[in-house]
Amino acid sequence: MDEFIKYASENNFGTTAMKTARGLGRMKQDSAFMNRLPDNISPHNALVRWLTTETPLDNIVLRVRNMSEFEDSYSGAGKKPGQEDIQALNLVKAEANKNACRLCGKCQSACPQHIPITDIFRFERYAMDDHDWEKAAALYDGLPVKGNICTSCNTCTESCPLNLDIPGKLEKIHTYMS
Ligand code: SF4
Ligand code: SF4
Repeated sequence: MDEFIKYASENNFGTTAMKTARGLGRMKQDSAFMNRLPDNISPHNALVRWLTTETPLDNIVLRVRNMSEFEDSYSGAGKKPGQEDIQALNLVKAEANKNACRLCGKCQSACPQHIPITDIFRFERYAMDDHDWEKAAALYDGLPVKGNICTSCNTCTESCPLNLDIPGKLEKIHTYMS
């Protein structure tokens, strides 16, 4: 992906990164995780520092839930991240990689049951990270094929760069969305 961004930037194509705060909403509710971050470092602020000064992106889309989160994020724009910001971002990335789908879609075509895995994991983000449970449940309810028909064959997990437990996640999501 870095190569695409670099290529676009070198050839005067505008670039926009979406869904830049993967897993952050759920992490911020996890006090044990938040206590591991360096003192006085906010993940949203550190993320915006990094995105606006260390990448060639032209635009970023970052979901914020209230004015305080907006101010916290926006105040990092254009400022270089310090060592502790980078340390915090590395912890955030490692935590996100344990459970938060990247929505890369690599697993999707592998499923013999045609379960819309990436849609379901996008709805999971609405629920877990944006705390918009109503929207997530309504979208899940509208799916013609849901996660409960997963046979745990694990064909999809072979394609997942994060090695996520896709059938386990589908089962959990189906339980709390239904
Ligand atoms: S484990 Fe479930 S979601 Fe994955 S390929 Fe098999 S049936 Fe599809
Ligand atoms: S391959 Fe993994 S990271 Fe990519 S969409 Fe599927 S579950 Fe998410």
